[in-house]
Parts: sequence; C-alpha cells; structure tokens
Amino acid sequence: MSFCDLAVSGVAELQPYVPGKPIEELQRQYGVRDVIKLASNENPLGPSKAALAAVAKASKEMTRYPDGNGYALKMALAEKLQLAPEQITLGNGSNDVLELLARAFAGKSDEVVFSEHAFAVYPLATKAIGATGVAVPAKDYGHDLDAMLAAINSRTKLVFIANPNNPTGTWVEADEILAFLEKVPEQVLVVLDEAYVEYLDQQHHAVDWLHDYHNLVITRTFSKAYGLAGLRIGYALSHPEVADLLNRIRQPFNANSLAQAAAVAALGDETYLQQSRDLNQAGMKQLIAGFEQLDLSFIPSKGNFIAVNVQSNAAEVYDDLLYEGVIVRPVAGYGLPQHLRVSIGRAEENQRFLDALSSVLGRS
Ligand SMILES: *Cc1c(COP(=O)(O)O)cnc(C)c1O
Repeated sequence: MSFCDLAVSGVAELQPYVPGKPIEELQRQYGVRDVIKLASNENPLGPSKAALAAVAKASKEMTRYPDGNGYALKMALAEKLQLAPEQITLGNGSNDVLELLARAFAGKSDEVVFSEHAFAVYPLATKAIGATGVAVPAKDYGHDLDAMLAAINSRTKLVFIANPNNPTGTWVEADEILAFLEKVPEQVLVVLDEAYVEYLDQQHHAVDWLHDYHNLVITRTFSKAYGLAGLRIGYALSHPEVADLLNRIRQPFNANSLAQAAAVAALGDETYLQQSRDLNQAGMKQLIAGFEQLDLSFIPSKGNFIAVNVQSNAAEVYDDLLYEGVIVRPVAGYGLPQHLRVSIGRAEENQRFLDALSSVLGRS
C-alpha cells in the first residue's frame, strides 16, 4: 500500500509549490558566504519603521488570540479604499484567500480557468480541492482574455487573472478587463489578483468596478510593496455575500495579531511605499540597461521583478548563479525554460546579479 493511494485524487497528483531558495540553505549546501536573494519578489528596502514599531507593541499581547474579525485593519482598508468593511476578507497572505475562493466556489466536477504562465497557486488550489484546472494558452506571455472567455462553460466556477502576472510581469489594460467582465456569465467569479498593484505607475480603479460587477473579487497583499512577506497578511475585496461565504470557511484566526498590527501601520506609511516604488523603478531601469548590454531579451514587467531570456537552459544558468552567491528564480515550471525571474533589488544587488550573469554567460 502507498499512502498516495489513500489521498484524495487531486492531492495525489499535486506537485508542491517550489519557493525561492532560502539564503541559509545556499550557505549550508554550497558553502557560499555572501549571498543575495532576488528570488521571491520581496521588498529590498527592509520593513517600514512604522510596521516594526507596531509589531514591537503588538508582541506584548501575543499570549492572546488575534482579533478574529480584524476590526482595525478592515476599518483602515475600508477607509482607504472607500468600501464597506463587510466587503473585506483577511487572509494568512493573499495565498490564503485564493485558496478560500477555490474551496468556497469550486467542487469536484467544476472547472477553474487561468492562463498559461500564470501564478502557480491557481492550479495548486484548484487541484487540491479536486476541481479541474483549465490553462488557457498565453498571448505574448500574457493573458488572452478572449481565449479565456471562450474556455468558460457551464462547469466553470472561477477565473483567475493575475494583474500584473507573476512570473511574466505582463499587464492587462482596464478596458480589456471591463470588456471581459461584461461578457462573463454572472455566476462565474472573476478573481483579479493584484499582488503588485502598488507598483503601478498609472491610475488604476479596479476597486470601483466592484459596484458594477458583483462576481468580481480583487485580492491584494502586504507581502510585496508593503514589505511584510514574513508576517503573512493579504485580503480579498468582494461583494459582501462572497465575503460572508469566505468567512464561513476560513480558520477563525487566520490573520495573526502581529501581521494585523503591522499591516495597519504599513498602510499609513506613505513615505515607505513611495520609497519602495522609487527604488523599484530605478532598479527596473538598471536591470533593463544591463540586459540590453548583454543583448538579452526580457518580458516588459509592471511588477517588482522581471523575466529575462538567457537564451539557453535557464536551470543551468540558475545553478551557476548559485555558485556566485546569487539566488534568482528558474521558471521552467511555468512553461518558461529559458527565462529566469529576477526580483528587483537595491542598486548594489542588481549590479552584483548583472555581473554574475555576465560572467556565467561568458560575456565578461
Ligand atoms: C506573491 C503573490 C501572491 C501572494 O502572496 P502572499 O504572500 O500569499 O500574499 C499572490 N499572487 C501573486 C500573483 C503573487 O505573485
């Protein structure tokens, strides 16, 4: 007997999510001391001082359970986004709310539509509950909304759209999404995953669309621009009835107290957010200039990362970079075997990555 035979069918077929390699692991396995990690789209600035102070204060109460309703954070979000607190569902990272959505709305004979090269959690969350994932071929590495619309049938319960998408950084314009929402049947939930929305250099109003499209769900996170990946806090914005359903199946204390306190503080720290954006913009320019110098093509990105085509087996380049003490992310698992995804770091980290890449590719 194998326990795999005992597992529910979707779970037995699952491949676990592959995270970016931890710095300590590289130090342990390769004996490399001086390591930089540009692999998990974390904020290279380090946490906001306001968030650190809030965590220090909240930690004095850590013998107590968190506020299971997340009152303070929901109020702060509601005010900032001009929504009712009843439209907000908090999660242990936005990963948590993505899974709650799958569990609440898709069952065994149901289908979930997402794009080729899209965020790995969508197929994972789909398979884990025994539903069928439908990966729609991408167009120029990004979402092909016409093809995704065509993939919707009577079994479809959910559509996931990552905007910007990870790992490609591709972006779908507002008018395209609105045209899509206009045509999607109202009983199909459209989940717009906006994990990188704070990095946009343009006006963006998806939250306003919640008024007109009750089947729209927007998910966001404090892990990226707000710099709180280690604390695990994200949220969904939706119709109150959808939020009510997610609320029924979430763990009662899925958003921990330190994370809630830090998130409230981070939301109020506009200076930190602006610094994060500025650093990202400068780093993006720096990397693009470096790629052009190395004559490497890349996928234009709206996020805090960029996928570069290394014109060879990216797994080998990834490995060679590890020996140089540079951790990036291979994305063969996303159907991109010649690309590496690099998170934008501080200027000196970006330079070190470019130098290492140049050396590994035999260009210097
Ligand atoms: C990073 C990321 C998330 C989730 O991050 P959490 O840390 O779980 O909030 C969700 N979607 C996309 C596209 C991401 O890249």
